[in-house]
Amino acid sequence: MEIKLSSEISEAGAESCEIGAGGPCGYVIFGASGDLTHRKLLPAVFSLFRTKRVPEEFFVVGFARSKMDDTAFRLRVKDSLRQADGNIPESEVENFAARCFYVAGGYDLDDGYKQLQRVAEELDQKYNTGGNFVFHLATPPSLYATIVSGLARNKLVGKHQNNAPYHRVIVEKPFGHDFDSANSLNRELLEHLSEDQIFRIDHYLGKETVQNILMFRFANRLFEPVWNSQHIDHVQITVAEELGVEGRAGYFEQTGLLRDMFQNHMLQLAALVGMEPPVDLSADSVRDEKVKFMKSIRPFDMDSLDKQLVRGQYGTGKSGELPLKAYREEEGVAPASCTETYFAMKLLVDNSCWKDVPFYLRAGKRLEKKQTRIAVIFKQVPHCMFARKSFVVTPDPNVLVFDIQPQQRISLLFQAKVPGARICLTPLNMSFDYREIYGPKMDEDYSTLILDCMLGDQTLYWRKDGVETSWKLLSPVLKKWEACSQAEKNSMLELYAAGSRGPEGGNALIEKDDRAWIAS
Ligand code: NDP
Repeated sequence: MEIKLSSEISEAGAESCEIGAGGPCGYVIFGASGDLTHRKLLPAVFSLFRTKRVPEEFFVVGFARSKMDDTAFRLRVKDSLRQADGNIPESEVENFAARCFYVAGGYDLDDGYKQLQRVAEELDQKYNTGGNFVFHLATPPSLYATIVSGLARNKLVGKHQNNAPYHRVIVEKPFGHDFDSANSLNRELLEHLSEDQIFRIDHYLGKETVQNILMFRFANRLFEPVWNSQHIDHVQITVAEELGVEGRAGYFEQTGLLRDMFQNHMLQLAALVGMEPPVDLSADSVRDEKVKFMKSIRPFDMDSLDKQLVRGQYGTGKSGELPLKAYREEEGVAPASCTETYFAMKLLVDNSCWKDVPFYLRAGKRLEKKQTRIAVIFKQVPHCMFARKSFVVTPDPNVLVFDIQPQQRISLLFQAKVPGARICLTPLNMSFDYREIYGPKMDEDYSTLILDCMLGDQTLYWRKDGVETSWKLLSPVLKKWEACSQAEKNSMLELYAAGSRGPEGGNALIEKDDRAWIAS
C-alpha cells in the first residue's frame, strides 16, 4: 500500500466528500421576519439551492405575524442574500427569491395555519415536492409547542407513517430553560411528532472543525490509545466572544450565559472530547455515547459551588481607544441586573477513562477577542532525563488544540531541540488550517444542518435524553442562584472590564490546581 505524505486532496476527491442532495421538499420558516432568518437561514438555504444540494423541486415559505405579501418578503430575502455575500450574481438572487413565499398569521390562531395549508398544498403541486416539508421554528422558544400544536391541528404535521411524505421540525435553541421545561416541551412535541421527526438544533455541531473532532480521534491510531487519564492531564474549553448582547438584551436577561452556552454548545464540545468510540456513525450510536459521557459528569456540589463555578459580568471598558459600555448600561438591561456574561467552571467525570482529569470550561461576552478553542493538555513525560543538565528546564507537556472559531485549525504543541551544541529544548507547533486547504466554503454550519434534516440524518442534532441530561446537570445550579437574594448574587458576581480577558476568578479557578489557561 502506498501512503502519500501530502495533505492535498484533488478536486474530484473534494467533490466525492459532499453528501448527496436532499430530495424535493418545501421549507417553511416560522418567525420569518426575525434576525436568525435574515442572517443565517435564508443564506443557508440559498447556498444549498445554488450548489444544487437541494433540487429544483424546492420552495420556501416564510410565516410570521408581521404583515407582508410575497413581494415584500422577497425584498427581504434578496437583502439577506446580498448582505451575506455581495458577489452573488443578481440572476441567481432573483431566481431564488422567485420561489420564496410568505404567509402572515398569529402563532396561536388557526386562520394563519389554514392559509399556510392552502399555500403549502398549492406550492407542493406547483413545485412537485411530493408532500415533504421541513418546518423550522425560528421564533422565541415560548412559541415552539404552540406552533407544533397549530401545525398538527391543521393537519400540516402528523406522526410519521412508513412510506408517507416526511414532515420534520427543526427546533432552535434554547430547548427549554431548565430540566422541567425541557421535559415538558419534549412531551408536548412528542404528542404530535415522533422522535425521528424532531431536529433539536445546535448550530455548533454543523461546524466542520467540531465534526472533525470525532474523525480526528477515531480515524487516527495515534491519539486514541493515549486518550485517557493515564496520559491526559486536563481539558480546557473556551468560548470567548468580543461582542456584548448586541440588541438581544431581552433574550439574554432571561437566559444568562450558563443557559445560553453551557447547557448546549459547551457540553456538546465536552462530549465530543470525552465520549467513548461509538460502534458506528449512525445517529443513535453517536448520541448514545454522548449521553453516556454527559451522565458520567459528576453533579455540581451545591455546598461548595464557589470552588467549581465563577460567574462574572462585564463593566465598562475599552476596545483599543473605543470606550465600551457596562452590561448594566446596555439597552434593555435592568440597571441592577445580576445576569452573568461570563462563567468558568471545573467539571469532573466519574468514569474510568477520565478519572481525576478535570474539564475546565469558560465562556464570556465582551472579552478581548473572539475565540472558541478546545485544548487537550497531556501529562509531562514520566522521566525527564534532560533535567539532569542544569541548563535545561523540564519540557512543557504536549498540547493538542482544536480551534473552532475564528480560526478553524488543529495544532499540536511538541518539544524539539534547538540547533546547537547544547541540549536546549523549545516548544514547536505543528498546525493544520482548514481554510488554507479547503477554502471559505467551510463556514456553512446552518446549510449542513438543514440539509441533514432534509436527508433525515439526526447525528448532529440533540436527542430527547441528551437535552434532558444536560439540563439535569445544570438545573440545580440555576435553581440555587434564582433562590439567592440580590445582595447574595451581587457578592458572587465578579465584575470584569469589557474588552479584557475576564475576571480574575476565572484564572484563580484553574490556578489553584497549579494549572493555567493555554495562552493564544
Ligand atoms: P427574533 O426575536 O428576531 O424573533 C423572530 C420572530 O418571532 C420575530 O421577527 C417576530 O415575528 C416573532 N416574535 C418575536 N417576539 C415575539 C413574541 N414575544 N411573541 C410572538 N412572536 C414574537 O428571534 P431570532 O430570529 O433572533 O431567533 C429566533 C430563534 O432562534 C430564537 O429561539 C433564538 O434563541 C434562536 N437563535 C437565534 C440566533 C440569532 O443569532 N439570532 C442564534 C441561535 C439561535 P413577528 O412579530 O413578525 O411574528
